[in-house]
Amino acid sequence: MFIPRACTVAVLLSLTLAAAGDPDWRVALEKELPFANTQDFDFAARGFIATRDAHEIKGAAGNVVYDLSQYDFLKADAPPSVNPSLWRQARLVTRHGLFKVADRIYQVRGFDVATVSFIVGDRGYVVVDPLVSVETAKAAFDLVKTHVGEKPVVAVIYSHSHADHYGGVGGIVSAADLAEGRVKIIAPEGFMEEVVSENIIAGTAMSRRARFQFGVTLDRGPNGEVTSGLGPALSRGTRSLIAPTDLIDHTGQEMTIDGITVTFQITPGTEAPAEMNFHLPQLRALFLAENASATMHNLLTPRGALVRDAKAWADYLTESIRLFGPKSDVMFAAHGIPRFGTAVIGEFLSKHRDAYKYLHDQSVRLMNLGYTGPEIAETIRLPEALAHEWYNRGYYGTMSHNSKAVYQRYMGWYDANPASLEPLPPEPAAKKHVEAMGGAAAVIGKAQQAIHSGELRWAATLLNYVVFADTANGFAKGMLADVYTELGYRAEAGTWRNIYLTGAQELRTGVANLPPASFALDVLRATPTSMLLDFAAVRLNPDRANGKRIVIDVVLSDFNEKHRISVENSVFIHEEDVQDDTAEATVTLARAELLQSLLAGMPPPPDTAAKYVELVSLIDPVDANFAIVTP
Ligand SMILES: [Zn+2]
Repeated sequence: MFIPRACTVAVLLSLTLAAAGDPDWRVALEKELPFANTQDFDFAARGFIATRDAHEIKGAAGNVVYDLSQYDFLKADAPPSVNPSLWRQARLVTRHGLFKVADRIYQVRGFDVATVSFIVGDRGYVVVDPLVSVETAKAAFDLVKTHVGEKPVVAVIYSHSHADHYGGVGGIVSAADLAEGRVKIIAPEGFMEEVVSENIIAGTAMSRRARFQFGVTLDRGPNGEVTSGLGPALSRGTRSLIAPTDLIDHTGQEMTIDGITVTFQITPGTEAPAEMNFHLPQLRALFLAENASATMHNLLTPRGALVRDAKAWADYLTESIRLFGPKSDVMFAAHGIPRFGTAVIGEFLSKHRDAYKYLHDQSVRLMNLGYTGPEIAETIRLPEALAHEWYNRGYYGTMSHNSKAVYQRYMGWYDANPASLEPLPPEPAAKKHVEAMGGAAAVIGKAQQAIHSGELRWAATLLNYVVFADTANGFAKGMLADVYTELGYRAEAGTWRNIYLTGAQELRTGVANLPPASFALDVLRATPTSMLLDFAAVRLNPDRANGKRIVIDVVLSDFNEKHRISVENSVFIHEEDVQDDTAEATVTLARAELLQSLLAGMPPPPDTAAKYVELVSLIDPVDANFAIVTP
């Protein structure tokens, strides 16, 4: 089947790929998966009230923060360039509008990557997980006010510490509401610590890698981004953060909020380090945060993160089933679709739990038999009874990636083979491989054979050697881009598709020059200075710092804080409230001035001590656009 490609470098190869693009895998997939089972679409449509008239949600400057029409292309049948299973999932998770989930429970879905829920109390709304941006959260709330009723927000619940679940809070709660105690903000214990810490130290690399996972630079459409598999694209608006007023610290903790009784279950260390589910006994409704979704989730997100615990995840779901399963007529979540009926919920929870438990237990079993990460990933498959449930398919996380994550959690990167202890890094290894195989032309020839026999993964490995041995080899880059494109088109996971297609894009047109990700001001304000100094420490250039000794006290004029910063042996140490007279200089700065000069590359205020200027000169700028698909 011919698939048109943007690349013209390797037209010959495109034709070869097209010829080899026997749709057997597609036919097999369509036969294997229960496309005739449309229950999920019934659940996704149930209770639809209305959606927003204007498809664009705009920011104050007229910028488009979110466009509800961006996935309209999904109305067509799955094209050859998209895996039909992913196409189905994308249709499901992009359906947008206001839905009545149950008596007193509403959701606005498809207005952002996440879903916001509204529970109607006696006087007002309890809002759960107010999206990424102030603008999308406000648009969702406006829709609720129009169709359900004009009432105030009386409480907000953050289910967990990821930005798509709190960033829009400023769109529905004002500073005055808070100051006058009109709104409670409820979150799991550890929420603020996790919010401010997750993306700081490794944030630069994470945002660069996130571009691949979310297809940030891809167009949306049949040849580009077709969701991340979890939900529609992230909105690009103003992010906010309001600190919680009430923390939940144990399972079984109960609160009555505006006449609604809420029983919490804390689930730390699952999808987020601080996360919780809750049950509404009067409404027989269960909210599962991001612990049970319409996809297999990530144990190790491809953008990079600390690895999550599959066993804890499964164990908490077992607890949810015992505590709440039989007492629930409806379940809803922070992404995806609600599910209706006690039996349906029970089966969903058990089988979804079983998928994580199987993934964990069987990965460990194989590990204990001596298999390494890539070997486990190649072998492990869910049993048919689990694999055929749509919600266990790997649209966001995958069995392959997750089984390696289980290995990593227990064993780390080293597979115990001495050959892996100190292998050559990618670039010199590539040069040696290409040389050993008889030169670039010979390797390209072997890659062509691999493509002919349908071994695209091997073709990618071979061509990656050629590109890493010689980035000027445009033919190899074009050919590798075509192979990545085909792998992307075949991928069932939205994340994998985005990763392959972004790789192809960067091979063809280079790395898009994007500015470093910036922190939401509210998040920055809430972040302890010490944590920001940690971020400076990991940017110290050891060569420039070599032989230097600096000891400075920084007094923050607006924060009542004093930090001792010392640099010696190319190591940046900071301590708070040190009282002695060994500092070579004391500088007094507003906290913003400290952050701007130390972390954002702006010059320190004039007449700042020379030692401080020297310190600033040792901190490397952020490289937001480092190479990935080339050396
Ligand atoms: Zn989320």
